[in-house]
Amino acid sequence: MHIQANHSLQPYNTFNIDVKSQYYIEINKQSDILTLRSDLKIASLPWRIIGDGSNILFTHDLEGVTVRCTYDKIKVVKEDNENVWISVGAGMKWHDLVTYTVENNWWGLENLALIPGTVGAAPVQNIGAYGSEARDTITRVQTLNIYDGQRIEFRNAECNFGYRTSLFKQEFVNKLLVHRVTFRLRKLQYGNANLVYEPLKLALQDIPKPEYTPKMVYDAVIDIRQKKLPDPKRQGNAGSFFKNPIIDVDYFETLKKEYPDIPHHKTLEGQYKIPAAWLIENTGWKGRSHGKSAVSAKHALVLVNLGGAKGTDIEELYQLVQEDVNHKFGIYLEPEVIVL
Ligand SMILES: Cc1cc2nc3c(=O)[nH]c(=O)nc-3n(C[C@H](O)[C@H](O)[C@H](O)COP(=O)(O)OP(=O)(O)OC[C@H]3O[C@@H](n4cnc5c(N)ncnc54)[C@H](O)[C@@H]3O)c2cc1C
Repeated sequence: MHIQANHSLQPYNTFNIDVKSQYYIEINKQSDILTLRSDLKIASLPWRIIGDGSNILFTHDLEGVTVRCTYDKIKVVKEDNENVWISVGAGMKWHDLVTYTVENNWWGLENLALIPGTVGAAPVQNIGAYGSEARDTITRVQTLNIYDGQRIEFRNAECNFGYRTSLFKQEFVNKLLVHRVTFRLRKLQYGNANLVYEPLKLALQDIPKPEYTPKMVYDAVIDIRQKKLPDPKRQGNAGSFFKNPIIDVDYFETLKKEYPDIPHHKTLEGQYKIPAAWLIENTGWKGRSHGKSAVSAKHALVLVNLGGAKGTDIEELYQLVQEDVNHKFGIYLEPEVIVL
């Protein structure tokens, strides 16, 4: 285990921003935390946990210690006729895990193909796409307390999963390091394709239902995502930058009078969720650049680094977008991405 001083975080964020962390350390096992805590200088500083930085915008150099979990082993921990339980190290790339499961013909993760980031961040963020969320398959999350290395395990119901959030993003953020995650997956003949997302259903419409496999859904998801989203390897980005705002009925009715075509989705609480991408597009920001950053021409919810942008350039851009949306629609767009 190396303690690296003044270390660039450019390889660990998909916006491709070059900031430095005072100290950077990769953690593999429980005893690494105990060793680090015995170093008085390192122990006295604030610690923050990152994965692959695919949901983070770094705007300045960071003081303190940045830790990343690199433990990436997969183990089958239990199996019965219908299911298999696998325990996966937090440092594994999420998409590699999804690929491994579909190659084994196990159902459960195929709708979440091609989401960047690590397995460790999946329960933190409760990642989701195309009608599926990490919480649907997670049975246990094994964590390490970063102050004393103590192992603490949570069952699914204890994780307080919500929309792109969980206990690990709330009171335990930067306190518990997710070390291993256990998933329950269905064997081929006992699972089903989740095709609630219409374009996925369309993609598989020519195949008879009994012939569906996880790999077919996985391939369709990859195809849809590649057409829709800019690839962070070519154009730095962190996926959806803003959350979809939720507004009250009264305000929705007022807006609808002025914008009869406003897309919306009624929530269970009777409020209205408005697609942030529509709001951004209708303020004319889609495809527009600001210095070395831009709102993607492919998807208005994605902000991109055109090459050489600083974190503050992207920060300026998102604030301009926020101001314009607020001015035109009276709606405040809250970043989904963590701004540090
Ligand atoms: C092109 C693109 C498309 C995307 N599409 C989607 C999508 O469809 N659905 C979706 O849900 N997200 C999507 N995202 C967002 C992102 O991929 C996820 O949020 C992902 O889970 C972040 O993983 P990460 O390892 O990069 O975590 P980071 O961005 O590094 O960290 C995110 C949070 O998790 C915490 N964290 C990370 N690892 C650990 C750990 N081991 N223990 C404790 N805390 C930890 C961090 O402290 C931070 O709070 C997309 C991003 C991009 C760039």
